[in-house]
Amino acid sequence: MTYKFASRMNHLKASEIREILKVTEKPDVISFAGGLPAPELFPIEAIKEASNRVLEEDGIKALQYTTTEGYSPLRKWISNRMNKKWQTNFGADNIMLTHGSQQGLDLTGKVFLDKGDIVLCESPTYLAAISAFKAYECQFMEVATDEEGMILEDLEKVLESHIDKIKLIYVIPDFQNPTGRTWSLNRRKELVKLATKYEVAIIEDNPYGELRFEGEMLPSVQSLDKEGWVISLGSFSKVFCPGYRIGWVMASKSLIEKYVLVKQGADLQCNTMAQMVIAKYLELYDIDVHIQNICDVYKDRRNTAIKVMEQEFPTEVKFTRPQGGLFAWVELPEFMNAKEVLEKCIEKNIAFVPGSSFFPNGGNENTLRLNFSTMPVEKIKEGLKCLGNVIKEMSV
Ligand code: PMP
Repeated sequence: MTYKFASRMNHLKASEIREILKVTEKPDVISFAGGLPAPELFPIEAIKEASNRVLEEDGIKALQYTTTEGYSPLRKWISNRMNKKWQTNFGADNIMLTHGSQQGLDLTGKVFLDKGDIVLCESPTYLAAISAFKAYECQFMEVATDEEGMILEDLEKVLESHIDKIKLIYVIPDFQNPTGRTWSLNRRKELVKLATKYEVAIIEDNPYGELRFEGEMLPSVQSLDKEGWVISLGSFSKVFCPGYRIGWVMASKSLIEKYVLVKQGADLQCNTMAQMVIAKYLELYDIDVHIQNICDVYKDRRNTAIKVMEQEFPTEVKFTRPQGGLFAWVELPEFMNAKEVLEKCIEKNIAFVPGSSFFPNGGNENTLRLNFSTMPVEKIKEGLKCLGNVIKEMSV
């Protein structure tokens, strides 16, 4: 049978991570592959309490349809928190709740992208953002990055030469997925200047910003923007739990109206119960205490990962030392191929994601991403020691 699929399906293929994650379902695998929060930190008792309270106090509302924008007390809570952090002036009207920030990415594609449009992104960038935007048949132009973020001279050259086709600049300035790097203040300011000069929207995707273990918090890119070029995406996935699938888009009111239009077509609204349980949890508990617990655990795991990599990896191997988030990025010597390293590791029940998947236009076969949030310290030691041995064996 030959179905007449949409042309966009020609560009879509199963993500390499999903295939690898299938292997990691085996119980004895030490996985550095996924981007999962530590499950033992999920606030299950608190969620039970919040769910019961919602059902007892407001059950009918919680089980009914609600607005596309989302439950207003939760939107109000989010805008207050952002304003306090960034000295901004957003209100509930600047926020629409989404099913994870992943839906924010998909809806961004729906709002902005026509076939052949260009999305500028960091090189490397978040794999599932590539998939989300690709479904709208766009092209990607990667902008080289260093320790401080995108190299802005390169960004400006591309803006200058392709401005007619460029619709979006997509960035993850805090503890980036996959590299763990954080943009410097200066690059943030200059990025906003360039977007303003060339009149291009910036998507600031920030699911990890709250997970800072050390160093100073930097202003969001959105808080540096006076004109409304920046759209930020946030999420409860990494600070609460991903299972509820609640995130948000924050932008100027006129942009939020566009997002509401496309969300209506996608799913009408987010899960009402999930929105209300999160709002109740935030009313009953101090999420900052919970976030601090998460940071303490992840810091320990990151420290372990870095120490083992310093001890066990050959000196030619470079890796990032993130100040927060979930990921570190490893660059093997150029002649090595991370997929071949992975094949050897899988035989030893160790998994990670080869880095080439994070480059929309491929290449960079010598790179890989390591997640350090999911595995306990002992497993991190064992797994990275084993990875170090595989790298050493393959280096000779
Ligand atoms: N953006 C980035 C950069 C991510 O790493 C992730 C999750 N891994 C998401 C968005 C999506 O997260 P969620 O939909 O759970 O909010």
